[in-house]
Amino acid sequence: MTTLAPTTLQGRLSSELGRLRDAGLYIRPRVLEAPQRARTRVAGREVVNLASNNYLGFADHPFLKERAERYLREWGAGAGAVRTIAGTLSIHEDFESQLAEFKHTGSALVLQSGFTTNQGVLGSLLQEGDLVVSDELNHASIIDGLRLAKATKRVFKHKDMQDLRRVLAENPTDGLRLVVTDGVFSMDGDIAPLDQIVAIAREYGAVTYVDDAHGSGVLGEQGRGTVHHFGFQHAEDVIQIGTLSKAWGVVGGYAAGPHDLRDLLINRARPFLFSTGHPPAVVGALSAAIELVQADPSFMERLWDNTRYFKAELQRLGFDTFGSETPITPVIFGEAEAAFEASRQLLERGVFAVGLGFPTVPRGLARIRNIVTAEHTRDDLDAALAAYQQVGRDMGVIGG
Ligand SMILES: *Cc1c(COP(=O)(O)O)cnc(C)c1O
Repeated sequence: MTTLAPTTLQGRLSSELGRLRDAGLYIRPRVLEAPQRARTRVAGREVVNLASNNYLGFADHPFLKERAERYLREWGAGAGAVRTIAGTLSIHEDFESQLAEFKHTGSALVLQSGFTTNQGVLGSLLQEGDLVVSDELNHASIIDGLRLAKATKRVFKHKDMQDLRRVLAENPTDGLRLVVTDGVFSMDGDIAPLDQIVAIAREYGAVTYVDDAHGSGVLGEQGRGTVHHFGFQHAEDVIQIGTLSKAWGVVGGYAAGPHDLRDLLINRARPFLFSTGHPPAVVGALSAAIELVQADPSFMERLWDNTRYFKAELQRLGFDTFGSETPITPVIFGEAEAAFEASRQLLERGVFAVGLGFPTVPRGLARIRNIVTAEHTRDDLDAALAAYQQVGRDMGVIGG
């Protein structure tokens, strides 16, 4: 008989929740009481929504919903098995061909989400003796994916090309060398210097791996992404990872690259092998999304018009948007409490925008992260700017 008393479930839950509260990291998700649109309802209020990743306004778009309904009717509610056993419907493969053609790559494979895609690709491609060099600000799903990999892992300073070069030079290997970067960084809205990254990677015989979650549907001709923006779409030594959950408005992740990459992932990527694929409605909505962005250039135009307008007006009011180059527009408030307070005050004035503090962003750089979409009207943005001006003055962040 052991005399040790085991931890009870309630004991574990209370102590962990207490630690989160003490550290100011306790999260309670805001609930949207209406569809994901540029104007929605939060906490009983009509709000201008600056918090989503719905860049093109596709999440509630009729063209996507009609295709989803049709696929649901014609193909059913679910895939019925994991893709490798009996869950690959012809619509899955048709969509993957459509996506590969759109991305100008040899092939594309769709997984359940961007998160599982990083797990699946990094987990199945890398072996002992390989080297991975990762930007320090890369997304959590890359960090978790790398935990599954037996390769040697090194970090380089954010977008610091000298540091990237140093790390590659200091860690020679006859294994695979992989440089991993986000295409667009989700907190600052800055773009990875892929022209330089790919050039340096090539100097050291390394492959470049770009997670384009925030670049796909945002950058490049017709939203083909960061890799296309820099002209590397046909490169055999560049792997593109992305999400179908942000600009494309639905859910899912993809890996696009040489044909053999797709083949290996089908055989090795554990989320592909052991978790059921997308239901037909998801596939339908996604195929409509890729079609719509190519048929109608106005989505991309409005996204960028709105981005330029909103950023310029915030700067004119005296706010610091931290050098963002994309629709992700941070407004710096300094300490976390100030950012959270500003978010509360904005909500009271009918603007839904989320505050982010340490450890999500560095201390002293707490911010509200705004994401402008193609769906916002000038009126929406002007209403948000008026609220920002008032809150910024009340809190002493801007003059006037
Ligand atoms: C959002 C995001 C993901 C996760 O994508 P999901 O499809 O939501 O799982 C992965 N990588 C980056 C860089 C992201 O911003």
